[in-house]
Amino acid sequence: MLHHERLKPSPQDFRPDPWSLIENKFHPEFIAQTESVLALGNGYLGMRGGPEEGDPCVQNGTFINGFYETWPIVYGEEAYGFARTGQTMLNVTDSKIIRLFVDDEPFELASANIRHYERRLDMKSGTLDREVLWETPSGKQVWIKSRRLISFQQSHVAAISYEVTLLNAEAPVVISSEMLVQQPGVKKGEDDPRQAKIFSGKALQHRASYAKDRRIVLAHGTERTQMILACAIDHELESDCPYSYKTSHTEDFGQVVFTIAAQPQRPIRLTKYMVYHTSKTATPDEVCRRAEWTLERVVDQGFTRLLAEQERYLDHFWQRSDLRVSNISAERTRLTTVEMQQAIRVNLFHILQASARAENNGVPAKGLTGQAYEGQYFWDTEIYLLPFLIYTSPQIAKNLLRFRYGMLDQARARARELSHRGALFPWRTISGEEASAYYAAGTAQYHINADIMYALRKYVNATGDEEFLFECGAEMLVETARLWYDLGFFSARKGGKFCINGVTGPDEYNTVVNNNTYTNLMARENLRYAAETVAVLQIKKPEVLQALIQKTGLELLEVEAWRRAADNMYVPFDATTGIYPQDDSFLDRKPWDFKNIPEDRYPLLLFYHPLNIYRHQVIKQADVILAMFLLGHEFSPEAKKRNFEFYDPLTTGDSSLSSCIEAIVALEVGEFDKAVNYARAALLMDLADVGGNVKDGCHIASMGGTWMVFTYGFGGLRDYDGSLSFRPQRPPEAQSSLQFPLTYRGQVLDVDISPDSTTYTLREGKELVIRHEDEVIALTQANPAVIRPTLNPG
Ligand code: BGC
Repeated sequence: MLHHERLKPSPQDFRPDPWSLIENKFHPEFIAQTESVLALGNGYLGMRGGPEEGDPCVQNGTFINGFYETWPIVYGEEAYGFARTGQTMLNVTDSKIIRLFVDDEPFELASANIRHYERRLDMKSGTLDREVLWETPSGKQVWIKSRRLISFQQSHVAAISYEVTLLNAEAPVVISSEMLVQQPGVKKGEDDPRQAKIFSGKALQHRASYAKDRRIVLAHGTERTQMILACAIDHELESDCPYSYKTSHTEDFGQVVFTIAAQPQRPIRLTKYMVYHTSKTATPDEVCRRAEWTLERVVDQGFTRLLAEQERYLDHFWQRSDLRVSNISAERTRLTTVEMQQAIRVNLFHILQASARAENNGVPAKGLTGQAYEGQYFWDTEIYLLPFLIYTSPQIAKNLLRFRYGMLDQARARARELSHRGALFPWRTISGEEASAYYAAGTAQYHINADIMYALRKYVNATGDEEFLFECGAEMLVETARLWYDLGFFSARKGGKFCINGVTGPDEYNTVVNNNTYTNLMARENLRYAAETVAVLQIKKPEVLQALIQKTGLELLEVEAWRRAADNMYVPFDATTGIYPQDDSFLDRKPWDFKNIPEDRYPLLLFYHPLNIYRHQVIKQADVILAMFLLGHEFSPEAKKRNFEFYDPLTTGDSSLSSCIEAIVALEVGEFDKAVNYARAALLMDLADVGGNVKDGCHIASMGGTWMVFTYGFGGLRDYDGSLSFRPQRPPEAQSSLQFPLTYRGQVLDVDISPDSTTYTLREGKELVIRHEDEVIALTQANPAVIRPTLNPG
């Protein structure tokens, strides 16, 4: 069920364009929303899409992935094992500010007489471009053109090319290029637990500041996490009009002011280079030096080269990731082909912006577009983003899995703290320590362990990267399998079956339950994969197994026990209805009064005490439905249909992680209208602000889910056994088509589903065996397969 689809702003507020998101006019009412959707980032550094002038803005956010401060979590009532330390990604030095004065009149977007305005997030060049024609009160026309980028290639670097031309007069022009340390964090205007913590006082403390000619360097540090940030800016001005400049700074502010005697039709071009370096170990001086080294290099290279590099990077990205559509249910989705194409690319582009250079870090729930959820990492990465990354950018996927491996020791310690064997990964974190202050919807989500191992398996299957499996994966598998075996038990009351009690599944509206179906099924996978991997090592790599035994103290008897637990896993099933209950008590709960609860009481988490929600049959997000997608081979087609029909009406979609999954399963069970509604909600989660909170940042998981809607949903891709199979789900409308590439074991497969045929082409690689419906197909580059569909039933 879909609640309260608020179509504001709507995709129609952006001009349709297949490769750009274009804002045709300045929308003061959508400032916060456009700050999120027009944000730039590269996975290391992110800047919200505010104007160059710095105002008007709601949050002029600049973020560095993993640059955070901690704070003590204060509980009214303490209990053993609660997470102690909150972690919040900080809003750091805003270096992108450029203010303009003509005839001493400030250019202020909110009040200026604007004769032309266009802002464009260009997804081919990776830039945020703006063109404005401003008429000053004295009738002087000023053409202002800017391009902003955050480099994918050079992760510490951002730059702005800012050009001012007086069209019809001469005038004194002042351009003030500024940097500002924002103190304190964001204002928390509303009572929404999803928003970030505000620090009182100074979260960023001055460590160093200096200026050299047109360059300014400011270094700041955090108190508790002892991290250092250096931000450095430098400038070039090209103009054939006479000019002078002055540089000044304080501890938290820097400014280079150019004063130019501007002549008509003579462009003044300012290039601003911005560099960020951070460290947990180096001294402030050292971090400043690093920033200057980078700065010297990019100034030397110039903006044109940065731009060319950016375009090349994106060209490669789109070649291996672009998903093209035409005529997919235009009437039902109320989107033209161009609008749909634009929305798809915005989603994919933002995933790249959130993850590309997230090296030694995870992907925050909002990427680097906002501070909601404190900039922390959740299962969103493994279950929602990694499928896209694994099949298009496997190196990024590997970095993210390696980052999880890096927190294994902390996960071991956390398991000990909770009296478990093995390792328990944190439900939400930046540092690797558990940071969820509400254990019922946090720490209790043990499924995070199995989610990470599920993604590991998908990665290994799709890449063949056994080295990673043996070097890092196996150790995580051993420790997570141990955790499950320790957590569960063979219950006499359940016929000796292996039960897992006191956990929370994906659905945060039913917490601390016994035998959550999703968790049990995913744990079973985890246990089996661990046992299989040890068996493979025994045969193929005894020396790696020895090393693993050394590291983990693994005893082979344990592996037998994991197999027993997996084979005897308890999976709740209600034989009379054919329903897989979400957990042991779900079917006993009181039905939620969907009919009489008004639309404006959703999301329920903002209007009802948790207890009120927990005692009802009401679901925040796909749970059993998610299991039916991730482990679809464990469910018969009839079971899928029956369970979808049961759970769908109970699912509020109060989490943005729900719609995409509902869409995929709806397609599989033949509920086409529902599927299209859900697909639309997932696709437009950010562009149409479906959840009403895009102001706080983009929904990166839903963006990854959107890719899955097209590939797994419409494309019918399945990969349970590690090989690729397809069962395209064509919309009933005759003319739709869909194309996407997949990288599989170093080869590239192009899938092209058109109205009257499906074509599989091996673009790169030697040979690939896939399945189309029930047919096995061996592809070579010279031999694509063209398959004509048997007509769609109905
Ligand atoms: C969802 C979680 C998700 C988190 C961060 C919550 O609202 O219920 O499943 O991990 O948001 O996106």
